[in-house]
Amino acid sequence: GLSAAIYALRAGKKTLVLEKGSMGGQIVVTPEVENYPGISKISGFAFAQGIYDQAKALGMEYVNASVTGVMEKQRDGQRYFEVHTGKAEDKVYEAKSVILATGAKNRPLDIDREQDFVGQGISYCATCDGMFYRDRDVAVVGGGNTALEDALFLANYCHKVYLIHRREEFRGEEKKLEALKQKENVEIIVNSVVTGLISEEDDEMDGVLLWNRVEKKERKLYVAGLFIAVGQMPDNDAFADLVKLDEKGYIQAGEDCLTDTEGIFTAGDCRTKKVRQLTTAAADGAVAALAACEYLG
Ligand code: NAP
Repeated sequence: GLSAAIYALRAGKKTLVLEKGSMGGQIVVTPEVENYPGISKISGFAFAQGIYDQAKALGMEYVNASVTGVMEKQRDGQRYFEVHTGKAEDKVYEAKSVILATGAKNRPLDIDREQDFVGQGISYCATCDGMFYRDRDVAVVGGGNTALEDALFLANYCHKVYLIHRREEFRGEEKKLEALKQKENVEIIVNSVVTGLISEEDDEMDGVLLWNRVEKKERKLYVAGLFIAVGQMPDNDAFADLVKLDEKGYIQAGEDCLTDTEGIFTAGDCRTKKVRQLTTAAADGAVAALAACEYLG
């Protein structure tokens, strides 16, 4: 969204960015970015702050608000869109064109009592909550880059880190996996799924129940914290009547970032695509903004 804003502003368009969470989206909680061309190493927060500052200096208007819907309207024969924001803000903005860059949200594991323990044993963000588990034993579940990075990050502070993955092969980068294998306080548990949570006292999570799919064996793992990093899912329900979504809920659009509604564009992880990376999201921002500028004429 911020990348799109930079391109729209440089094309001379009045640009408002509406953000329901923290500025920068998912990247803010990534400890280190090492794969953005031209930048060898930077924290996700510093990276996001840089884009925000760049857009702000160009004249971006920025409002913290949750968008609840976008409606197509007509006035004096001219099409425009009403952008409605959530109850607390209760404001309607008008725009001639809208770029949907809603990213993605954390996927839950969908196990019994998961939501009861969020913030009290369960977290979806190691960089946000890791410090609460300093010197304690924790587990990370997932096999992608997020899980590998979370485990690496937690290994610096926690007494012991278990990395639980449902398969033998990891989806995340080999380099990160190798770094984890060098850590003495990390144990990698493969072919295992979390089937439940152990709670011996009513209001506390004491650990997880694991099922090894190959050995067909159950294991009880006592940990103070469980970090769930099993990928993302789209957050596009508010736009289901505006644009076509695919069967998983992503906005249907190709590399041109055009949706099936004229004047509505999309960029980043929220759209159908194979590779969801910082570089591809930033590239989408440029494509979507330039397409919107062309539409506006
Ligand atoms: P991801 O790549 O989609 O990986 C999700 C992982 O969770 C997979 O290993 C998957 O297992 C596992 N999983 C999914 N559902 C599960 C379930 N119900 N139970 C147990 N395991 C489950 O997600 P991600 O790691 O969040 O990464 C998302 C994108 O961001 C990726 O493109 C990634 O490369 C990128 N990313 C990049 C960086 C970086 O470059 N610095 C950092 C973080 C993320 P399977 O492998 O068996 O499917």
